[in-house]
Amino acid sequence: MAKILLVEDEPILAEGLRFNLELEGWATEVALDGESGLKLATFVENRFDAIILDVMLPDIDGFEVAERLRAAGCYVPILMLTARSQPEDILRGFAAGADDYLPKPFELSILIARLNGLLRRHEWLRRERSNATSTLSQSFHFAGRTIDFSNLEIHTPGGPITLTLKEAELLRYLIKHEGECVSRKALLEEVWGLREDTDTRAIDNFIVRLRRYIEDDSANPRHLLTVRGIGYKFVARPEE
Ligand code: CA
Repeated sequence: MAKILLVEDEPILAEGLRFNLELEGWATEVALDGESGLKLATFVENRFDAIILDVMLPDIDGFEVAERLRAAGCYVPILMLTARSQPEDILRGFAAGADDYLPKPFELSILIARLNGLLRRHEWLRRERSNATSTLSQSFHFAGRTIDFSNLEIHTPGGPITLTLKEAELLRYLIKHEGECVSRKALLEEVWGLREDTDTRAIDNFIVRLRRYIEDDSANPRHLLTVRGIGYKFVARPEE
């Protein structure tokens, strides 16, 4: 049974959501502010399979909760509830480490569908470890680094780095299209499932982070290249 942490400060909404999430078969715990959400999420490792995180909270906001969770090494998938579908909120959410977002007010069925998507993708990444016949192998090696998709880790000369689900999915997509130029629009659609007009800077923040993980000199990338006016290109072995 999947375990969900719901961080939402409006008690009536929180209880209503908990009731409905439990109807779906998910054990749900509620935190009514950011600090208690952080405590619950980090108290026992891997206690939750997903976190639903409201942005507007009475103490620290959802952006800070997400940032502090990631900084504390907690990489559980986060579905962020943004107050409005403002591009800047969505961008801030992704930059803070959220894996998906849903603008308030939302339809319950959409929330459940998004949550199912996050849980499924997380489970799918985990299962690749035991699935030797997987179409794309569970690890990818280049330039002294190994990306381990099943454990959401990159092993680098400087030590292991943990990836968020979205970072792993973005890397996987770029690697799958190695040597091809992929547009920002394609990345937003394929990796984030965003079809509306979202500011494509969300992608750029992720690329900056990925370069820190996979480049020797992130200011002069050799693997994750910018293709001016279009998007990005991943090159595993630039010397060849
Ligand atoms: Ca709120």
